[in-house]
Amino acid sequence: MLHQDAEGAIQPTRTGKPLGNSSTDEESEIEELKEISPEAITIAIFCALSYEVVAVKYSLDEEFRCRPMAAGPQKYISSFGRIGSHSLVIARPSQMGTVSAAQCAATVSHQFPNVRFALMVGTGAGIPKLPSRDIRLGDIAVSIPQDNHPGVIQYDFGKYEGDRFVLKGSLNKPPSILISADGSLEEDEMMGRSPLRNILRSITKKSGFKRPDTGDNLFKEDFHHTEKGNDCTECLASGTAKLVLRDIRCRKDPIVHRGLILSGSGIVKNPQDRYHLCRDYNNAICFDTGAAGIMDEIPCLVIRGICDYADTHKQQDGWHYFAAATAASYCKAVLRKFDSKLAERICDMRDSINTGTTAIQENQLYVTHVIPL
Ligand SMILES: [Zn+2]
Repeated sequence: MLHQDAEGAIQPTRTGKPLGNSSTDEESEIEELKEISPEAITIAIFCALSYEVVAVKYSLDEEFRCRPMAAGPQKYISSFGRIGSHSLVIARPSQMGTVSAAQCAATVSHQFPNVRFALMVGTGAGIPKLPSRDIRLGDIAVSIPQDNHPGVIQYDFGKYEGDRFVLKGSLNKPPSILISADGSLEEDEMMGRSPLRNILRSITKKSGFKRPDTGDNLFKEDFHHTEKGNDCTECLASGTAKLVLRDIRCRKDPIVHRGLILSGSGIVKNPQDRYHLCRDYNNAICFDTGAAGIMDEIPCLVIRGICDYADTHKQQDGWHYFAAATAASYCKAVLRKFDSKLAERICDMRDSINTGTTAIQENQLYVTHVIPL
């Protein structure tokens, strides 16, 4: 049974245990969680790191228990919950990288047969390019297809031909309904009524996830981190000549950047690699690890909170947690744009189209927004 909450988002009537109830006995709280069947789960959220999972769990409207179907190896302990009317599984690959992510996605597909699509949610390294692309720490990068790319490119899958690295194959585009939901949120931003701020506020109240008081410094490409210390105190002592000068951003809310995310198995940690990997992709906004492995298994939208700039400098850990919170907030905002019944109808219709039993076009169900090609 569905109803609308104060912000207009569609919510089912609660029958299980809402999050945030005051209880001092956490074990008894887990006991009381409503159990749902694996067939009821329609969306998978993948996170690479524990604090990314925690940020998503803090965004849930309700937490569930679930026993996965006994298909495939039982290698993962997942979490379960609800956002709006969607029942979802939160899964975490056992290791970083695309191979481990693909294995995890394949297992989720078998254990939860009605999963329609996925979101990869967590932190990533921003690729600012001033003045056109002013990406800051805590901003959000979303894999939206533009300029003939599918939203995510696996930068380390290909071979060298002469002096050029040529990519092999291409990844699937994100599900159309998630692209459309993102487009609707972009309209909300333009009209000053994005739900992101309110969702983020509820997560950043939790211990460790508030916006850090430490600075957001972008160093010039030829200036490397000093060996002293685990933060950039010594680097900053070198003076402002080493910094890229950027306008003061008065607005504290994260800005959403849409475009190409470069995905691979390694972490990009210096400006030379950043430059080398980006040179064929001037419009890339973010580096990520693992998403390419998910996208080959399940249609997937990638949402990354920016926690560093893919350089040698060491941003404070607080930015990692806050960036995970901004990504989880945007994930929730996307999922609240449509209800689970619409997702089912669209996916069922896509299956029919793929098997040639109907000529009805998928986008007839949501003609209010144009899907980028
Ligand atoms: Zn530094």
